[in-house]
Amino acid sequence: MSIYVTRPFLPPKEEFLKKVSDIFDRGILTNQGPNVQEFEQTMRKFLGIEHFHYVTNGTIALQLALHALGITEGEVITTPFSYVATVSSILWERCTPVFVDIEPKNFTIDVSKIEEAITPRTKAIMPVHVFGYACDVDAIESIAKKHDLKVIYDAAHTFGSFYKGRALCSYGDISTLSFHATKLFHTIEGGGCLVQDKDVSDKLNLLRRFGHEGDSHYMLGINAKQDEFNAAMGLCNFRYLKEIIAERKKISELYNSLLIKKIERPKEQRNLEYNYAYYPVLFESENELLAAFDRLRKMDIYPRRYFYPSLNKLHYLKVKNNNPISEDISSRIACLPLFVGMKEETVKAICSRL
Ligand SMILES: *Cc1c(COP(=O)(O)O)cnc(C)c1O
Repeated sequence: MSIYVTRPFLPPKEEFLKKVSDIFDRGILTNQGPNVQEFEQTMRKFLGIEHFHYVTNGTIALQLALHALGITEGEVITTPFSYVATVSSILWERCTPVFVDIEPKNFTIDVSKIEEAITPRTKAIMPVHVFGYACDVDAIESIAKKHDLKVIYDAAHTFGSFYKGRALCSYGDISTLSFHATKLFHTIEGGGCLVQDKDVSDKLNLLRRFGHEGDSHYMLGINAKQDEFNAAMGLCNFRYLKEIIAERKKISELYNSLLIKKIERPKEQRNLEYNYAYYPVLFESENELLAAFDRLRKMDIYPRRYFYPSLNKLHYLKVKNNNPISEDISSRIACLPLFVGMKEETVKAICSRL
């Protein structure tokens, strides 16, 4: 069987089918049904935040975040080292992304370069806790305060990570999550918004369901409501979160023991209780990466280039700037296969080919 970078976790079939059967009995499929409500309550409790909204995916979560904070034009400072949805959400909301290069240890936005990118048109900072590593949240908060900017974290990789005793996805004015099937914890498709301020939270809640309540239309909205089947998958998977993280940790440590001296890895962070969301490795050059991919392909194993290209290189951007560190890292980084149920022999085989 082919081995890809990930394989979605699936709960025992009977547990999911029981919930599906309950949905059939109730006849409620969507519009804040009982599963969605239970899922939201579960998330609030687990993440330690009052305002959490479950939405259809992590990309619309970012778009809703911008909208709920009133950012519908102007510049948004972000990182070039992320999945494309970070920047596409900014562009889709008719804002201009301004890229600030990353630091080379954990590949998050370089906070020492943020202030020089701020202009009178800057509205917000959208950093990414890439691979589940924490951005310098304290520095970002003080820069944002000083310049009166909003902070939206793309926290798509952080579910299950805790930083300084707090869920890593609970920092900033809003943090967004993705519950896509490729993520460590998923609801097939899905996303979430964690909001600090109650008024912003109420607005976001209205925005995600057409901006109206009954016959009262408050604002222009969109449909980002999640349904009962996805929530059922989330509730089933959540029961296994501890096991999922523990198994990913075990596989990551096996990789560590077989690879650590030969291949460069992100640095461990103090104060971070890591979720083992990914296993990124840095090759010495792009050619080395491609050669390793070739060797693995012969064994039907397919790591992935996360993230390539560096987003400042997207051809549809109007303004392009250089981000040498991100471009360099992007050219030679890959994530190795990591998923629940991965066999020890597979890890060993991969390491022997690297
Ligand atoms: C997966 C991901 C998204 C998008 O989430 P979807 O649920 O697939 O829309 C956004 N940002 C990052 C960093 C991601 O990895």
